Amino acid sequence: MGSGGGGMMDLEDVTTVDLMTELLRRMRCAPKPERRLILIGPPGSGKGTQSPIIRDEHCLCHLATGDMLRAAVAAKTPLGIKAKEAMDKGELVSDDLVVGIIDEAMKKPSCEKGFILDGFPRTVVQAQKLDEMLANKGTKIDKVLNFAIDDAILEERITGRWIHPSSGRSYHSKFAPPKVPGIDDLTGEPLIQRKDDTLEVLKSRLEAFHRQTEPVIDYYSKESLVVQLHAEKRPEEVTAELQKVLS
Ligand code: AMP
Repeated sequence: MGSGGGGMMDLEDVTTVDLMTELLRRMRCAPKPERRLILIGPPGSGKGTQSPIIRDEHCLCHLATGDMLRAAVAAKTPLGIKAKEAMDKGELVSDDLVVGIIDEAMKKPSCEKGFILDGFPRTVVQAQKLDEMLANKGTKIDKVLNFAIDDAILEERITGRWIHPSSGRSYHSKFAPPKVPGIDDLTGEPLIQRKDDTLEVLKSRLEAFHRQTEPVIDYYSKESLVVQLHAEKRPEEVTAELQKVLS
């Protein structure tokens, strides 16, 4: 793929402002320590809201398996075709499938300083495979951030949610409305509501979380890596908690 001369050709088409901005970002990021974080929490607990803030501040890449799978479904790739049925029902897709996409995604240059895993690992098997993958590279997870929250709060958060698909930016019709309804503030592009953000599908997503993902918290608790957050608080307060934990 984009190797050799091809890569330089691509750069010629990048605007000077974008290129300089990226150069400045890399200079600011060079002295930052490496970090490898996992964000765990049910749908609507705020992982997707906090991830870009942590990513920018600590120069990490943000790897959200849900976003990657939705992109694959939209592009109708073989991976997307395999994942679609389970996703529509609010069930988990197979461990091998998501482990494969994470393994590939972590090779990106933007992950040089480490990563934020959002929505992965979601089963103990995924956690074990991740640990193996990292051990092979001589690294390990530094912290697991547990977005602890009561199920009762999630219904309203999920059913009012609007997404800008290409950036993953999210809005809420009541709590964080876009400036113009249905339109992304930054790009002016249309927002969508996720097909699985309905009350019926939320029920099975929550069930999957309690049955398959909560054991992942116990798994990492044994290594004392888990930090509890108060995810029911306002986004700014959760950001402040995260800043403390990661300082
Ligand atoms: P999310 O955007 O994290 O809510 O994920 C949306 C859907 O993608 C989930 O309901 C699952 O069907 C699928 N998915 C995302 N991440 C994983 C994962 N780590 N393991 C299995 N399925 C996943």
